[in-house]
Amino acid sequence: MTHPILPLNDGRAIPQVGFGLWQVPADETARVVREGLAAGYRLIDGAAIYGNEVGLGEGLRSADVSRDSVFVTTKVWNDRQGRDETARAVEDSLQRIGLDRVDLMLIHWPCPEQGLFLDTWKSLIALREAGKVRSIGVSNFRISDLERIIGETGVVPALNQIELHPRLQQTELRAFHAKHGIVTQSWTPLGQGRSFGAAPVQAAAARTGRRPAQVILRWHVQLGCSVIPRSTRAAGLVENLDIFNFTLTEAEMAAIATLEAGERTGPDPAKFN
Ligand code: NDP
Repeated sequence: MTHPILPLNDGRAIPQVGFGLWQVPADETARVVREGLAAGYRLIDGAAIYGNEVGLGEGLRSADVSRDSVFVTTKVWNDRQGRDETARAVEDSLQRIGLDRVDLMLIHWPCPEQGLFLDTWKSLIALREAGKVRSIGVSNFRISDLERIIGETGVVPALNQIELHPRLQQTELRAFHAKHGIVTQSWTPLGQGRSFGAAPVQAAAARTGRRPAQVILRWHVQLGCSVIPRSTRAAGLVENLDIFNFTLTEAEMAAIATLEAGERTGPDPAKFN
């Protein structure tokens, strides 16, 4: 089955659903990547800080799919920001994964106190021109951070990967993204399971005969977001991709919208440096 893709503002496209590798142990990563690709995923979300880029590359090479059919994302960690350091960080990631280039390179956090994200963004622009990365984007950027890099360079990130789940719906940031042609990608999309038992999720799960996790992932898809759940279990990987043969009603979407609580599971991008 082919799954939906979302257009990027640079003329390329990204699969809407992928799987994430945060906290996947290095020695299990190749297996998870193989199982994810066998389940039908074509988007892998990695990062240098996850410590498992080598396993990502191993899994990719040993899977029964062509490299070009898979969209690989990785990220520049906070201590590698800055013009020259970013170029070295990207080289290091490419070497660990074992690829000539990745599909998407993100700045992992803005780290406002470091004051380096603009230089880091300029470095990514140059690396894209040099063919080291196909698309470039950011993660955990606030509206003010996005305005700064767009204003200074005229280059709009293809995507912003942000914490997003029913208890943190990021309405304002999503509207900004939509206005500027930036894909919203949801991290920790399952929100540590905190909404699995919520009445609107339970009701939609009962009506559709689906699991709460599937209802929540379907909600992300219907919002128009790209989403990258993580599971180290083969059955979990399969379950999280099996969300394209049912639809939530407008009333169910609206009921889930009431779960907004402004509640982060991870750091506040304004304070994380
Ligand atoms: P998720 O929201 O995907 O949740 C993962 C947890 O949910 C795991 O404990 C997993 O356990 C469990 N789970 C997965 N599928 C199911 C299911 N169908 N039913 C019940 N439980 C399930 O969390 P993550 O925090 O990992 O976020 C996803 C990805 O987002 C990361 O892997 C990473 O790639 C990215 N990310 C990016 C960040 C950033 O700063 N840019 C920050 C954090 C994450 P099990 O393995 O047992 O299935």
